[in-house]
Amino acid sequence: EFDAAAVVASDRNHVWHHLTQHKPFEQNDPMVIVEGKGMRVWDAKGNEYLDMVSGAVWTVNVGYGRESIADAVRDQLVKMNYFAQSAGNIPAAQFAEKLIEKMPGMSRVYYSNSGSEANEKAFKIVRQIAHKKYGGKKHKILFRERDYHGTTITALSATGQFERKNQYGPFTPGFVEFPHCSEYRSQFGDVDDYGVRAALEMEKVILAEGPDTIGAVCLEPITAGGGVITPPRGYWEKIQEICKKYDILLHIDEVVCGLGRTGKWFGYQHYGIKPDMVTMAKGVASGYAAISCTVTTEAVFEAFKDDPSDRMGYFRDISTFGGCTAGPAAALANMKIIEDENLLENATQMGEYLMGRLHQLADKYNVIGDVRGKGLFAGLELVKDRQTKEPVDESLPIAIAADCMKQGVIIGRTNRSFEHLNNTLCFSPALIVTQAELDQMVDALDNAFARLAPNA
Ligand code: PMP
Repeated sequence: EFDAAAVVASDRNHVWHHLTQHKPFEQNDPMVIVEGKGMRVWDAKGNEYLDMVSGAVWTVNVGYGRESIADAVRDQLVKMNYFAQSAGNIPAAQFAEKLIEKMPGMSRVYYSNSGSEANEKAFKIVRQIAHKKYGGKKHKILFRERDYHGTTITALSATGQFERKNQYGPFTPGFVEFPHCSEYRSQFGDVDDYGVRAALEMEKVILAEGPDTIGAVCLEPITAGGGVITPPRGYWEKIQEICKKYDILLHIDEVVCGLGRTGKWFGYQHYGIKPDMVTMAKGVASGYAAISCTVTTEAVFEAFKDDPSDRMGYFRDISTFGGCTAGPAAALANMKIIEDENLLENATQMGEYLMGRLHQLADKYNVIGDVRGKGLFAGLELVKDRQTKEPVDESLPIAIAADCMKQGVIIGRTNRSFEHLNNTLCFSPALIVTQAELDQMVDALDNAFARLAPNA
């Protein structure tokens, strides 16, 4: 029981909200979510919404109100709630085993509590290997324009979104940016080999910096918050080849795509590549507990074991709450749901259906410049003119998202995109979504476009 007006007042007076770019959430003065079931959530005022972005930031992969996860967490907590990961615990061991089964070639799991922290661990591994193996060389980490890697200062240092970074400098040294791979915003015009050319942009930066200074490259499999940018054909193969050529570790940030969003366990698995490190967070426990993982190959782990003189130093790392114990208990139950309910298959099938419906919308509204995505992760980039590709003003996607919310459907917008404008709508429903729910969302979008962006 709660007093809705009091909760809303407390929230307004004392809670420092995240991501206030999500303006439609503020129209409800402010919006306080009190309940969720399946694909739907309810706010303090009793309004019901179909959530097409899985908790605003593509997290609740198995949907709301999952009792099996809540039960698993409760059972674990009353039995054994906490002991640092200097010792092991049952769910952490069991989840690591299950996770590694889904990731051929990978071997070790380091637990922490957020995507940012998982990425920081990967960056620390690169720095440690640089000191240990290369006398301090190979300490730099490359990242890509438009990719996001987290909220801490070093994760932001590795983030290619100037608009998120501009007020937080100075940044951690040793992070170097290379150009994005948006085929729609191709740097080379309309060419057949765009994917290879975009990957070669990374090699140019490696050569300019000096290959013996670069330890790793950190990339999202699909750039998420930076604009739902799917990789062009041939891109990943070339990236992998370049990494091998210069002895550079490949770190894939699966914080968004991980655990089924794109129809495979991990986004990178669509492209036949073999990363050295993979980080994940949001979908690991679908938001039922805070848990993230930095997963490495045995070769990366072994790099710390071959020097007995400083062995202790290289393992002296602790995340107080990492891996203990609600997180892995929730993660195990979450993975069981994905398997028992064939949610990878549903994500693939419903993703294809969603793409088809979004293309139909694009046939109807010229403001839709590009439709892209993979599995249940899709974006519509909005432009004033299909020829010039000039982005729409930020007010349009905000108004479209607000209009959908009035119709009871929550959709997303990515962070500011190219040309300083926030012009991409995004959709990332839970993996349980049905055709009827996708239709409800597309109908709401259709109404919003008809009202706000009809063809001239
Ligand atoms: N990497 C990516 C690709 C993300 O989208 C995010 C979160 N939006 C993060 C890392 C950071 O995760 P967290 O917010 O859990 O620190």
